[in-house]
Amino acid sequence: MTGKTNNASPAALAVAAVRNLSPYVTGKPMSELSRELGLTDIIKLASNENPLGPSPAALAAMHRALEESWLYPDGNGHELKVALAARHGVGTNQITLGNGSNDLLVLLAEAFLTPQVSAVISQYAFAIYGIVVQATGAVAKVVDAQGEDSAMPHGHDLKAMCAAVDDSTRLVYIANPNNPTGSWCTAGQIRAFLDAVPRTTIVVLDEAYSEYARRFGCPDGIELVAEYPNLIVLRTFSKAHALAGLRVGYGVSHPDVADILNRVRQPFNVSLPALAGAQAALGDAQQAPRAVALVEAGLAYLTAQLPTFGVKVYPSAGNFVLADVGGGGLTGQQVFDRLLRHGVIVRPVGGYGLPRCVRITIGTQEQNERLVDALRQCLNSQG
Ligand SMILES: *Cc1c(COP(=O)(O)O)cnc(C)c1O
Repeated sequence: MTGKTNNASPAALAVAAVRNLSPYVTGKPMSELSRELGLTDIIKLASNENPLGPSPAALAAMHRALEESWLYPDGNGHELKVALAARHGVGTNQITLGNGSNDLLVLLAEAFLTPQVSAVISQYAFAIYGIVVQATGAVAKVVDAQGEDSAMPHGHDLKAMCAAVDDSTRLVYIANPNNPTGSWCTAGQIRAFLDAVPRTTIVVLDEAYSEYARRFGCPDGIELVAEYPNLIVLRTFSKAHALAGLRVGYGVSHPDVADILNRVRQPFNVSLPALAGAQAALGDAQQAPRAVALVEAGLAYLTAQLPTFGVKVYPSAGNFVLADVGGGGLTGQQVFDRLLRHGVIVRPVGGYGLPRCVRITIGTQEQNERLVDALRQCLNSQG
């Protein structure tokens, strides 16, 4: 190398907001646990995936699309947008496609945030919100969630969030239901919030678990977009549609918001097989009801079983539960580590400020039974 000797890390050259970021911690992959402990029989209940797997129609469409993968995808995702627009009764110009809905969260932050403005986020909210806000240097105003003894423990306190919105606030995030808490807001609460928030603040309503949540009184936020030009609703193919590895999500908003997001979007942010798979998945009317039925049964099972050995299960409108496993003095991280030795991967949530808890994705009945047995053993044993 030429030039002056300089021992400073090149990381020092990065912008301060990015240097100070902690990356999002993803669920532990099964292959990693297999490498570490030599286990072969592993179940992953850590990333809220749908164990039923993708629709056969989606798989067939993706196989066909692979043959064409020497071509660039349609940069506008026209056919998928037409299908989504028909499904939701909106215009194609109201839809923004993303590489997962995570991509939409990044685009929103890029398009609306600077170090001079702020965003409002609930305590315990999905961690990506804080990360994308921080990366822009904007101020993240974190609002205390509802208390442990409230009707919705850890839930967003929408009144307090609204009060935290001021002239500088460009984005406010609502996860409905929220991950990792499972807590949710009803249609009436969401509407009251939208009525109270000034139109100078964009409301990001993240409905990643929409298919599971409707039976709990969560609204279809997309039906509200026509009334509130400052609302964007985010959906994903990762959860009920069982296409997490494909990376497709979308936003539905006022056309002007979609137009703005499309200016920062990479032209080919959704791959050719992903466009085809998502479109076929949308056409399979069986997929979501099957997933919802599985989760309904699994939620009832876990909610009945876990308290029999001292685990508290919080209410959830998603395909996962937040479980307080700390009654015997162990941390969620310790319980996570013990479960790994049984070949069961869950998600520790100490990073969210919930050190006594783990998040457990609802699996098949067989997986749920294995989780219950392993967890019972972990909590009863000394190590
Ligand atoms: C899983 C999840 C998402 C979706 O992520 P993708 O990028 O679409 O896979 C978004 N928001 C929340 C709250 C989630 O839990």
